This record gives sequence, C-alpha cells and structure tokens, in this order.
Amino acid sequence: MTILVTGGAGFIGCNLVRRLQSDGADDVRILDNFSTGFEENLSGVDVEIHRGSILDEEALARAAKGAEAIVHLAARPSVPRSIADPMASHQANATGTLMVLEAARREEAHVVLASSSSVYGANPTLPKNEDLRPMPVSPYAVSKLATEAYALSYQSVYGLTVLPFRFFNVYGPWQRAGHAYAAVVPQFVSQALAGLPLTVHGDGEQSRDFTFVDTVTETLSLAARERISSPDPVNLAFGTRHTLLDVISRLETILGTPLTVEHVEPRAGDVRHSQADQSRLRELVASVTPVDLDTGLAGTVEWMKRLNAPNSGR
Ligand code: NAD
Repeated sequence: MTILVTGGAGFIGCNLVRRLQSDGADDVRILDNFSTGFEENLSGVDVEIHRGSILDEEALARAAKGAEAIVHLAARPSVPRSIADPMASHQANATGTLMVLEAARREEAHVVLASSSSVYGANPTLPKNEDLRPMPVSPYAVSKLATEAYALSYQSVYGLTVLPFRFFNVYGPWQRAGHAYAAVVPQFVSQALAGLPLTVHGDGEQSRDFTFVDTVTETLSLAARERISSPDPVNLAFGTRHTLLDVISRLETILGTPLTVEHVEPRAGDVRHSQADQSRLRELVASVTPVDLDTGLAGTVEWMKRLNAPNSGR
C-alpha cells in the first residue's frame, strides 16, 4: 500500500513511518520541509523522502502521486509559536491542509489528519467529548479547527474519505527538548537528566491526557491502512488525566532521585485541564490498548538517555 506521511520527519511522523513499515505498508513516503523535523529522525529507516512544503503545489503533487492514503501531520505546531506568528501558523495549518486535501482529491486517497485538543480551549466541561462547542483561545487552535473542518467539508462535498483526529498531549521517543517551544514531557526529562530544576508554568496543577506516541501511531496506522473514516472529529486519547506535578513525581520514581521545580508565569493560550472522552475512538478502533503513563515515561527517559550519550549518532 502506498502511503504519504506529511510532516514525516517530525516527532509523531518519524514514529509513524516506522510503525507503518512494521505493519506491512510497502511504499511509505514523506513530505517535509524540515522546519521542525530532522533528517536524523529517520536514520535507519528506508523511506522515500520528499523535501518540500505542503504549500508548494508541485512538490506536494509529486509526493502524493499514486498515494492510496495520506496521513497529514505537517503543521506549525505549538500554541506559543502561533501567538508569536499567527499568519505563519494559519498558512501551514489551514491553507496547508487545504492543499493536501486537493492533492488527496486528485489521487482519490483516504486522508487521516491531525487536529488538536486545543480546539476545546476555554470550554470547561470535562471530559471533552467531540460534541462540545469548540472554544479555541489561540491562533494555533483556530488553525486546527480549520484543519478538521476543511477535511469534513471535503468528505461531504467531494466524497473523499477522511478521519480527523484530535490529538491530546502526545509524548515519547523522538520528541525534542532544548528549544523555546518544547513540549512539557521532553522538557522535564531533559532538565531532570541534566540535573536542572524543572520549569513549571503556573502551579503545576494543570492537567493533561498524556498519550504515548506508540499508541497514537498504532491508531494512525490502522486508520490509514483500513481506510477508517468518520463524519465527525475523533479524540485520539484514552480519558486519563494527570497533573504536571504528578508527572514530575512519576519521573522521580523512574529516575530514583528527587527533582526540584522552578515555577514561572503561566503561558498565554494554555488551557487549565484536558481529558478526552474516548467513546467515539473506541467505536472506531476497539483493538488499540493504550500504553500507561509510567511505561511511556520510562521509555521516553531511556530514549533521551541514549540521545544524550556520547557518540550516540543521533
Ligand atoms: P513536529 O513539529 O515534530 O512535526 C511537524 C512536522 O511538520 C515537522 O517535521 C515539520 O518540519 C513539518 N512541517 C511543518 N511545516 C511544513 C510544511 N509547510 N510543509 C511540510 N512539512 C512541514 O510536531 P508533532 O508533535 O510531530 O506534530 C504532528 C502533528 O500533530 C501536527 O499537525 C501537530 O499540530 C499535531 N498535534 C501534535 C500534538 C502533540 O502533542 N505532539 C498535539 C496535538 C496536535
């Protein structure tokens, strides 16, 4: 099966490429402009790499030629990044999605897309079920709402089959720290391994539905290979909720050492609590068993230790 992964050199993308291949997809390609992705994320993986932007129609058409499914992950991720430059986030995430959908229409490819739990934004109801009113509070969240809405409109109007997933906080190997927009888990693990205090925005009681990347890629692979579609967006998380302070305490157990914390100002655009209602996901992909937080954090720590080891080659 021929599958194009946009954003395939990124964190989730490079894990997905590996998963698709181990699940038997024989022709996997990626299209990535390497803005936040890295070639070394794909080291040791035999994949056709198309270097270019989803906003470049010709590059996209070349990469999508003959694709039976497209997993669209390319985006300018992160809430703070979108606050710094909302136009760039809109172009990559909203316009970029429209371009990918056009390519999919030409190829009659099934499309699985990445939306985000951030679309729930200021809506306080927990857990988040997909029928809640979206209340995005950042340009990033708005652009992700556009991502899923464009996809669903292409399904209605052109008969394309699509599955927009709302990812929650995905974490695991190949997610980098050490940059201004790093996600919280790699940031904590990297600071802990370096013996530094862990930076917590606000009081640390904010909570998230953390999802290990292997669980996400297992689900995406299944959805792409079996052409699973939905008339509505679907949460891709399993209804667990942990505070940042809880994550730190689990890291202390995994690392066998107490960790210090430095509290700084809360970040603009961040939501207080997040937890998925998993009912709709369970109806679509009953076979996936999520990796629990302790196992996932331990795997992430192991990966980051290897990354930091001298001569790791990564
Ligand atoms: P990532 O930054 O590691 O991956 C994004 C990839 O897209 C990168 O490789 C980047 O180089 C590429 N890219 C960006 N703009 C592009 C363009 N114009 N053309 C081609 N490639 C481009 O981020 P990730 O965490 O792997 O996120 C993957 C997807 O999941 C994104 O759509 C993101 O918004 C979504 N998402 C992620 C999370 C999470 O917790 N990681 C949560 C919600 C949604």
